[in-house]
Amino acid sequence: MTNKTLEPKDMNWLENGVLGIEWSDGHHGVYPVRYLRQHCPCAACVDEWTGELRLQPDSVPLLIMVQDIEAVGRYALRFKWSDGHDTGIYSYAALRRLCQCDICQPEKPQKPRGKVLL
Ligand SMILES: [Zn+2]
Ligand SMILES: [Zn+2]
Repeated sequence: MTNKTLEPKDMNWLENGVLGIEWSDGHHGVYPVRYLRQHCPCAACVDEWTGELRLQPDSVPLLIMVQDIEAVGRYALRFKWSDGHDTGIYSYAALRRLCQCDICQPEKPQKPRGKVLL
């Protein structure tokens, strides 16, 4: 049990729009997909140099969906979104930090805002 590399072992849908990831350390991650989309790490969404968010969180459709999830090597997942965006590669470490379960995020993010449905 000395291998500290965390990786997803299993994925399933906890509810509509909420992805569950079971990690290799037994942690059950909770990932609302809109939140994941809002935190896309690609160069179009985040300024590579300043780390500043270019993406307007409110511009992400409320009913955004994941169309496909693809493993990138053994370190990351690539999400294909229903808004056509597919350049975001989420490393396992970054994904783990985005976990929204009660243990990782005792304080819930604000209620989704925005008027764009699809
Ligand atoms: Zn992006
Ligand atoms: Zn968690």
